Amino acid sequence: MTLTEIIENFKTKLNPSKIMDSLEKTASFYDESENDSEESGSWEELQSPESSSATGFFKGYEKSRITRDEREPLIKLTDVWKIYQMGEVEFAALKGIDLEIYEGEFLVVLGPSGSGKSTLMNLLGCLDIPSKGTVFLNSNDISELDESELARIRGQMIGFIFQSFNLIPTLSTEENVLLPLEFQEEDAHLARKKAEYLLDIVGLSNKKKNLPSQLSGGQRQRVAIARSLAVNPPIILADEPTGNLDSKTGDYILEFLDGLHEKEGKTIIIVTHDLDLVKYATRVVYIRDGEIEKIEKQKKNESEE
Ligand code: ADP
Ligand code: MG
Repeated sequence: MTLTEIIENFKTKLNPSKIMDSLEKTASFYDESENDSEESGSWEELQSPESSSATGFFKGYEKSRITRDEREPLIKLTDVWKIYQMGEVEFAALKGIDLEIYEGEFLVVLGPSGSGKSTLMNLLGCLDIPSKGTVFLNSNDISELDESELARIRGQMIGFIFQSFNLIPTLSTEENVLLPLEFQEEDAHLARKKAEYLLDIVGLSNKKKNLPSQLSGGQRQRVAIARSLAVNPPIILADEPTGNLDSKTGDYILEFLDGLHEKEGKTIIIVTHDLDLVKYATRVVYIRDGEIEKIEKQKKNESEE
């Protein structure tokens, strides 16, 4: 397959209306008392009638499959090294990482501060290329793609939730959520409706016009989540999603991501030092000093500390 074909393929498989169905269900995670928006049916008219269904997960999963074969990893790292050059000194932040991530996994990469988690996330998200070794996204070697091709694939495939939220300080809540849609050929009206809907889902319709500086940490994180979902990417990558949040807000965020995994079959990858997040994982990768210590498969919600 050529790159253009791959991109076209992704496009047709990504059905922007599909996510709204699951988001609606996931919305029940959110405490309604805080969510006083009246206008929630607005997305309805844009959806196809076949949406809401109890079998949405499996149906949706089939529909949105990216890998041609379920035994094929969605992301594959082989002997990946990341070496940072600081003047004369070299520092190896990742030392020979081998990792395969499959579609529909909820992967938690657990490790202490400085173990290389953010570095790994940047590679998994194709934001950076390895110093040595290879990163494959859907069997394509990302180092063979030029920056614009990479940016396009990234834009359609991956929703990022960064540690620092990465909101643009001069843009309002709504404009921040609209940002990823600017790079897609979206009609402006539809884009605005999507942003409205997503903000409603994360309980922030009343903060549309606020700047990030006027929001609490938890609210900023919710804006970041709404933004990461704007293009309905099949993969969600989150760096310390609970890092700056109180435990109640953190739980809410995780339940939300869990809903996207359960109901939408999205592939969720979280890097964190927070042991509490392990309970959501289908697989846990323990990382230390830039190396994988061990990988444990688990049945979701069965790990108790
Ligand atoms: P974590 O996210 O697990 O805290 P990071 O991936 O951010 O770890 O960093 C791993 C190691 O690489 C740390 O020792 C950090 O100091 C170092 N490091 C990260 N980014 C850079 C950089 N741009 N230049 C030099 N060293 C870096
Ligand atoms: Mg980090």
